[in-house]
This record gives sequence, structure tokens and C-alpha cells, in this order.
Amino acid sequence: MSSGKLPPAAGDLQLNFCKTLTCPNFGSTDEQHYLVQHTNPARPTLVCRECGAFPPLLNNHQVHAELITQRQLHADGLCACTNPDCEHLGNPVLTHRACYHAFGYSGDKQRYRCKGCQSTFVDRWSGVNKKSELQQKLLAYLFTGHTVREICRRLTLNPKTFYDHLNHIAARCRQKLAAYDTRFLGETTQGHLASVHAPLQPHSQNGVQWLATGEAHSGYVLLQDVNYHSYDHPVVNAQHDPYQDHCRFIASAPDVDRSETLATPEGLLGRVDAKYRAVFARSNVEDPYTQPLHFIYPNRGTLIRPQYTTYAHYLNLKPLLAHWQNIVVFSPQEPLLRSACLSVFEADIRDKRVSHVYVEQDAYWQPGAEPEKIDIVLLSWWRDRWAFTRSGEGTKAICDHGQAKGKEAYWLTHASCDALKKYQQHFHQQFALLVNEPRRRLRPGGLLPLLDIYRAWHNLCWQDKQHQTPAQHLGLTDRPLTLADLLL
Ligand SMILES: [Zn+2]
Ligand SMILES: [Zn+2]
Repeated sequence: MSSGKLPPAAGDLQLNFCKTLTCPNFGSTDEQHYLVQHTNPARPTLVCRECGAFPPLLNNHQVHAELITQRQLHADGLCACTNPDCEHLGNPVLTHRACYHAFGYSGDKQRYRCKGCQSTFVDRWSGVNKKSELQQKLLAYLFTGHTVREICRRLTLNPKTFYDHLNHIAARCRQKLAAYDTRFLGETTQGHLASVHAPLQPHSQNGVQWLATGEAHSGYVLLQDVNYHSYDHPVVNAQHDPYQDHCRFIASAPDVDRSETLATPEGLLGRVDAKYRAVFARSNVEDPYTQPLHFIYPNRGTLIRPQYTTYAHYLNLKPLLAHWQNIVVFSPQEPLLRSACLSVFEADIRDKRVSHVYVEQDAYWQPGAEPEKIDIVLLSWWRDRWAFTRSGEGTKAICDHGQAKGKEAYWLTHASCDALKKYQQHFHQQFALLVNEPRRRLRPGGLLPLLDIYRAWHNLCWQDKQHQTPAQHLGLTDRPLTLADLLL
């Protein structure tokens, strides 16, 4: 076995370094700064010589491969280059004119050629949507909680045709969203984002996690990914070995029951502290699935190790924010989200252009409440600096990983993951029958087009208590769109 080497970089991408913000080796990819050993599997492979941290290793090539897969899924059906090896992959013609030449017509549809790779493609969205009427009915049934079986019966569709329509609508929604996303990103130079994660199907225990990042206050969702591919991949190792090809795929494992149920501690401080202990029980602190977990592998497709999905998610987010001068990312307490965000934005974190803040609160906390007294507590091996406060019955806590002192009261008032958490909760309520259908529990693939349709509906159609959509809150449009507008 080779010794002393970090997993090789993929181009410029090397994510294996010390992730302790206050350590001089934070972000350093110099192998001299670490002890790297492969001989004793019971001990960490990488240890920082300066601070003693032992960040888990990643296969950079596998992170890059997942990034390309995500980008292809985000761009599926868009009028954009689809060549995975091309720098213009997924850049819509609509917003990236300079990347393409107009290249004649195919029937009545405009054809384009990519300047990067010379491949050509057709704008399938030019012209009228002849299926608009049927698709409007289909969407209306979906959004009023009907199951696929019922919708097929009412519209006399077979399931195959139903899913063809669903995929077509999802692609149209992605195309629609691309224009709004670009306007939002282009007109903004600073902001608060929030990243949240939840099981895609909370009652299925199928291991599929759903990660979403959006503007923290309006709840406008920019990017979402799941750690699941709907097709099969070769899975080589049961254990994660970052020096192996294909190591981002999870092997289908026998269904293991979790025997011990951990008691939920009292109070927010107790919960935050218990979470750190649960994290240290993982053999890989950045992989929530290295605890003994009860999950039932999907019948079709492949699960991805969550750290690969999460690092790729932030790598896809990064170029979208390239011109922003100041970015704060809020997230619930989860080292995977913290590490992935800090690692991807490592140089920007040191320049203080990007910072990351954990936010936790109990059910009694009132949004926007002013903190009363603030208590500072250092928690965990990392000595994370948390600020706890109360207001009325509610408790809230934040942890600013930039360790910027003096901003605690500000973050305790303004930092929030609520809007993004509600985005995921509403999905589970809105589509409860569909999400929890017994037959679908181990077949999550059919829900993937629905996620993009839901993102479009949430950003552009759904109105909050002030009768405003997230897109309206951001000034991107002056009226809510209807389901019919999404199909135009
Ligand atoms: Zn260190
Ligand atoms: Zn291209």
C-alpha cells in the first residue's frame, strides 16, 4: 500500500486539507503539513501536524464526477450545451449568448452551435407547447394531492406517458427558472444563503437525502441535489476508500436495525452537545451514514455517499456567486455542510468574503425576536464558539465559524434557515400521498422531476402570508405566476 500521499488532485481540485479555520494549515495542500498513514486502518489517514485535526479524505476525481452529473441533471432539457467535457456545459443560451452561434433551423426550431466544443443542439422550447392543456390538468391534479394512479385514470394516460409528461414539464420548469435565477444572481452582489437537508421521503428510510440552498430570507431556492442516481453503477467496496475509483457509490447493504434509541436531551444546549457526540460516533465525521443506520436500499438506482453530493453541490454553487462581494451561508448544525462549504470556499473564507454560521432554535422561538441575554459556550473537540439566547419561551443558538466576535446579537436576530426548512416541509405536506406511496418508497426516481417542478412552483407561484412569492420578495417579478404560466 502506498504511504504518505494525499488522494491525487483532479485538475486544480484538491479538497484534502486541514479544515480548522483557526489553524495556519487551513486550506493547505502541502503534504509536509500532515501525517499521512495507510498502515493502521483504525487510525486516521490524515492528521494535521499543527492542530491535530484529522479531516476525512475525499477522492477529488469522484467529487468532480459527481459535480458533472449534477450539472447535467440541472441542465437536462435546457437549451444549452450538454457535453460533459465542455466548459459551457449547462450554460443556457438564454443567458450565455456569447457561448453559442445561431446555426440554422431544424424544422421551425432554432439550432445552435457551442463555441467551446462545436456540438450542436436544437431549442426545443421555441414554438408553442401543444400539450399545454393536458399538462395543466396533470399539474392541477398533482398539486391537489392526487396519486399517479388516479391522475392516469382521470386523464386516460398510461404510467409511461404520465412520466413522459412529468419529465417534459420538469424540463420546461428548469428552462423557466434559468431566466429568474440568472437575473437574481446577476443583480445581487451580496446576500444571506441557507443550506438545509432532509430525507427525500421521510417515512421510507431509503437513504436518499435532499439538499437545498437558497436565499435565506425570501426562501428563493437556487440549487438542490439528492444523493441518488436513478440508474445502476458498479459498486466495488462496502467501505469508503478514497483511493479507489467509484468510491462515491454506496453498496447495497443488508437491512440493519438500529437497536438503541438515543434519548433526546432536554433543552437546546443539550441537543447541540448531543449532536457533537453523535458526530464523533461516526467513523467519518463528514459522512452521516457511517453510524449504524437503519436504511433500506432502493430497488433501482444507486445511493451516493452524502459527502460527494454535498461537496459537488457547493462546487456548482461557487461560480454562480463569483461576482458577489459578501456571502454568508447559514445551515443547521451538521459538520458535513460546514466542511463542504468551508472547503469549497476556502480562499474566500480566509479573505472574509464568505462566512458560515450554524443556526439552531427550538419550536418556541419567534422569528425576528431580539435576544435577551447572550451566553457564549465553547463546544466539542473543535471548540466551536456558540452564542445561546432566550426570548420569551424560545431559545436560539448560532455559531459563527469566522469567530467574528461582536456580531452574536445580530446573527441571533437575523440568521435563519426557516424559509428553506419550510420549503422542504411544504413539499412533504403537499405531496404526502405521492411521497409515501408504499410502492414508491424504494423507487425514489419518479420523484426527481417533481422536485424541479416544485422548485419552480415554490419560487414563482407560491405566496406567503404577505401574498408575495419568493421571486417577488427579490424584486424579480411583480406578480405571482400561475401553473399555466409555468407551461407557456
Ligand atoms: Zn490544522
Ligand atoms: Zn459545448
